[in-house]
Amino acid sequence: MASIGEFDFIDQFLKAQASLGQPFYRHPDALGIGDDCALIPALAEGEQFAVSTDMLVEGRHYYPDVDPKSLGHKVLAVNLSDLAAMGARPVAFTLAAALRSIDAPWLTAFLEGLLSLAREAQCPLVGGDTTGIPKGAPQVFSVTVMGAVPIGHALRRDGVQPGDDLWVSGSLGGPAYGLSGHMPIQKLSWPAPRVVLGQRLRGIAHAAIDISDGLQSELMHLLKSSSSLVSSHGKGLTALAADLQWEDIALAPELAQAVANGRLSLQDARVLAATGGDEYEILFSASIQQRSLIRDLSHQLGLALTRIGTVAPAKVSAVVWRDKAGQCIDPSLSARLSHGGFQHF
Ligand code: ADP
Ligand code: MG
Repeated sequence: MASIGEFDFIDQFLKAQASLGQPFYRHPDALGIGDDCALIPALAEGEQFAVSTDMLVEGRHYYPDVDPKSLGHKVLAVNLSDLAAMGARPVAFTLAAALRSIDAPWLTAFLEGLLSLAREAQCPLVGGDTTGIPKGAPQVFSVTVMGAVPIGHALRRDGVQPGDDLWVSGSLGGPAYGLSGHMPIQKLSWPAPRVVLGQRLRGIAHAAIDISDGLQSELMHLLKSSSSLVSSHGKGLTALAADLQWEDIALAPELAQAVANGRLSLQDARVLAATGGDEYEILFSASIQQRSLIRDLSHQLGLALTRIGTVAPAKVSAVVWRDKAGQCIDPSLSARLSHGGFQHF
């Protein structure tokens, strides 16, 4: 398989590998790779589609010398994370690949990473497009994932209600620490999308978003999306502000260790955790009545779910961090936090 053409690659390789272990390919109404379109069997009664696309661009989202297996894993993982944040179950996905050449060993490893996550998530690769690009151009991988969610029960960004608690899954700051060159971080190369958590949060969470660009900036998105639905009751409070506990951010184990060893100040660790991207954890809001249910869910899933603050009506959307005594953290520190999110342009 040293030198193969695009069609051989699709026919002999992609098609055969994509169907392995996927019940989709045994469904009588399903059609996967090989025709002009894929055919997806009807969803269950009362379900609607949730669809999302994310791409990874060489030199922008990954380095050319990346482990291709982890890149394959990641391009699907980031898309599954969007389904998770919506409370949707994975159904199927397509892959668009812009390649400088058909490098068989590299693509084999890429597909190994991609398709083993696909099998684990029961989300089959059902089609896509493959194109050549000029020599010096960056390669691009784009996945479109389709999921299903009961109609009206998706976890949208605009559902936050005044008085809600804010929760976050997992622990934060590891990928940002890894990116700054300190150490290889498992989560950066092999993110684990919270697919089960997302579905279990339906009916519990009011709103959810995945933290791909950093907690602070994703929280602002959540607050701004939900603001238009807040009624002001004549007080001019038409926005939502979050009050967060600075000491309650769950630090990634690598960060906690770096702090313990004196390689990083606790302050810097918390800044990384509050602003660092590439987390793929779920930030969600829920009414305070749900606290014990959420703690039970955390135990059942063996996944930390940390309550980090609350939401209240406000004049403008804002994120306010407080210490245990209820004092706002230092203004210069808040300024660092509001400038920390990942900017795409
Ligand atoms: P078309 O001319 O209809 O675009 P292609 O020759 O591009 O067809 O693709 C042939 C088949 O292979 C289609 O079923 C398509 O979905 C699938 N395919 C092409 N590239 C990929 C890819 N990167 N991943 C998955 N399926 C692919
Ligand atoms: Mg095509």
